[in-house]
Amino acid sequence: MSNRYVNRAFATLQKFLRENAVKDKILAKETTMRVGGPAEIFVVADSLDHLKVVLDTAQEWDLPLFIMGKGSNLLVSDSGFSGIVLRLGRDFMVKRANGSKIRAGAAATLPSLVQIASRHSLGGLCFAVGIPGSLGGALVMNAGAHGSCIGNLVANVITCSKKCELKVLEKNQISFEYRRTNLEKDDIIVEATLSLDIADMDAIKHQMEEYFAKRKNSQPLQLPNAGSVFKNPKGTSAGKLIEEAGCKSMSIGDAEVSAKHANFIVNRGHATASEVYALLRIVQKRVFEHRGIILEPEIEFIGEFDEALMLK
Ligand SMILES: Cc1cc2nc3c(=O)[nH]c(=O)nc-3n(C[C@H](O)[C@H](O)[C@H](O)COP(=O)(O)OP(=O)(O)OC[C@H]3O[C@@H](n4cnc5c(N)ncnc54)[C@H](O)[C@@H]3O)c2cc1C
Repeated sequence: MSNRYVNRAFATLQKFLRENAVKDKILAKETTMRVGGPAEIFVVADSLDHLKVVLDTAQEWDLPLFIMGKGSNLLVSDSGFSGIVLRLGRDFMVKRANGSKIRAGAAATLPSLVQIASRHSLGGLCFAVGIPGSLGGALVMNAGAHGSCIGNLVANVITCSKKCELKVLEKNQISFEYRRTNLEKDDIIVEATLSLDIADMDAIKHQMEEYFAKRKNSQPLQLPNAGSVFKNPKGTSAGKLIEEAGCKSMSIGDAEVSAKHANFIVNRGHATASEVYALLRIVQKRVFEHRGIILEPEIEFIGEFDEALMLK
């Protein structure tokens, strides 16, 4: 990327977004895996006006734009991201319960939505206990657990195109499948309304505790990770296949296949993205050699990685 373009784009962003625009921001701290190099430009858009400036600037200087939620499903490369990394801020964190619905900005976190639902005796969101993402990231990934997913709850989603046009998509216009949706790749989710069920508050709390305990018992929550590394193939679990292929506890540098849950790679302290990536590809290769199944990564790769390691 031409430095001149980046500098000109940064000057515009800094003029309008002030300290919300930062150059060469290390992304490791912005992801739950705690790995990853710098974003050439990192911006937090606190309002729709900010968002418009970011989108216009990216278009004007033809800079790649990546929208990051809470960074809990990402592996960012050690060389970082060439272009603008955008995160939604203040105005997009607002959430309000009204009757059996919750309307929230895309930057609202799932844990905060689970809490507000429980406070208003609204059931249906308990499955999301312990998923550390934002509403926007959860919708894109159709985040789910315990046999449910966010897509089941959607009443509508508001998106913003690269040209800054807002669009309201009703439930029947969006298809939610296992860890994917048909939402436009380039559109930014700014808000969504979830439709929940009125339920008994004690029953909700009990369910939340039960789901959280299950997570604590089965997942390596004390070490940085990005959740499940691979999607579950039809009819089986990725964790089981990885374990059967003998990959549990395998490590490269500080990246390790968790001994607690084989579909998690944990960062024992100073792992690099290259180590996590190399380990992931070795696991994928071993499972393929063992069972003839190519596991599809669930986590998303941002920036450049060694393509030679990809399973062909
Ligand atoms: C400990 C742990 C447990 C987890 N458990 C689960 C689980 O049980 N089930 C599950 O499904 N996932 C789980 N995850 C993975 C992750 O939390 C989810 O995928 C989550 O929904 C990702 O949200 P995020 O905000 O972190 O998105 P990010 O990781 O930041 O981004 C993910 C994708 O969403 C896009 N995106 C983010 N925000 C927006 C937006 N506003 N508009 C458009 N695109 C956007 C990004 O561009 C990217 O493509 C877990 C992760 C961890 C670390």
